[in-house]
Amino acid sequence: MAKVNTHFLALQSSYLFVAIAKKVAAFKEANPGRRVISLGIGDVTRPLVPAVTAALHKAVDEMGVAETFRGYGPEQGYGFLRDAIRKDYLDAVGVSLESDEIFVSDGAKSDVGNFQEMFAPESVVAVTDPVYPVYVDSNVMAGRAGSWDEGRGGWNRIVYLPCVRENGFVPAFPATPPDIIYLCYPNNPTGTVVDRKTLKAWVDYAKGNRCVILYDSAYEAFIQEEGVPRSIYEIEGAKDVAVEFRSFSKTAGFTGLRCAYTVVPKQLLVDDGKGGRTSLNPLWLRRQSTKYNGCPYIVQRAAEATLGEEGKGQVRKVIDLYRRNARRLVDAARGMGLDVFGGVNAPYVWVGVPKGTDSWGFFDRLLQEAALVCTPGAGFGVSGEGYVRLTAFGDPADMDEIIERLRRIA
Ligand code: PLP
Repeated sequence: MAKVNTHFLALQSSYLFVAIAKKVAAFKEANPGRRVISLGIGDVTRPLVPAVTAALHKAVDEMGVAETFRGYGPEQGYGFLRDAIRKDYLDAVGVSLESDEIFVSDGAKSDVGNFQEMFAPESVVAVTDPVYPVYVDSNVMAGRAGSWDEGRGGWNRIVYLPCVRENGFVPAFPATPPDIIYLCYPNNPTGTVVDRKTLKAWVDYAKGNRCVILYDSAYEAFIQEEGVPRSIYEIEGAKDVAVEFRSFSKTAGFTGLRCAYTVVPKQLLVDDGKGGRTSLNPLWLRRQSTKYNGCPYIVQRAAEATLGEEGKGQVRKVIDLYRRNARRLVDAARGMGLDVFGGVNAPYVWVGVPKGTDSWGFFDRLLQEAALVCTPGAGFGVSGEGYVRLTAFGDPADMDEIIERLRRIA
């Protein structure tokens, strides 16, 4: 008799976005004349840049001609894209990678969700709190999270590392070393970053305790300040302990097109269960070759275009628009007398709610008084209570109106 994987039944419902949608729908019904503007979605709004659409058209034409048609591609990604990524790592951050350490995919969400399969079921997982929910839920599905603790608002086998204003949003090392540590910088949802010294301390901690760091740098393109690492491999020793996930989604507007890549250094070794050490790189290749047939050729050509001179310049201009949005949101929230974090090296602005309310209370106030939608921080974890997240991915044409509405409730 077929029996379900009961870990799926244990998943907590994605209450956050359902609850937001319900509240917004009720508001719209009660206020039919008011235009609601969302600062809640994490999706981009600017279209693909011309270098990308040109590359897509060219690749589509190739697919219609027998001589240049492509069928199944290499599961790990075409050499042209992996070489372009390799060159970009070297040029941008001085990190040297081998082509077969790079795995192209259809998204960082899939990679970051799938990668936990590489580890023993009993592995202990640590996440920062608040957190991008995929890290937690993928481990729940795998049966690694234990049971839900209603009192704590978390899973009893997951180690939560609070990131709050009191610790400068820098997680403290867990009292007992876990096996796997998820770090995400620039961070979703807080928009905060860590400096080299902090990241070096984490790399050393992982090395000393034989942990693996799963480093999500989906937002690295937004880093603009000196001293903020764009890749964990800028840190000495990181190739021994870290996997890095990157994506073209927020960098180049590929949320609908779908392309990302994961770096698995060959020298990253883990316990083989028999007293030895084994490299994760060939195992991830085996996993991908078994369960995944590769990102479409035309999409990989489009991704390649974002790394060429012309595409890079065009993409940078779009990122600058979002950065400007972020700056304006930071200024507006400060103008309301609120504590504001992030928004400098990230497209997310993390706002401390006024005294006497909580994250849902402030969400309601922004909706009722300004017809603006944010994301309540409590939805990202217990330590997100007391904050809301604003995203800078909105249409720049809406910004004047957004700022004006915020000013009016200040
Ligand atoms: N990682 C983080 C931290 C994200 O916020 C997101 C998207 O919101 C992703 C990964 C997913 O990226 P992709 O579109 O490549 O699947």
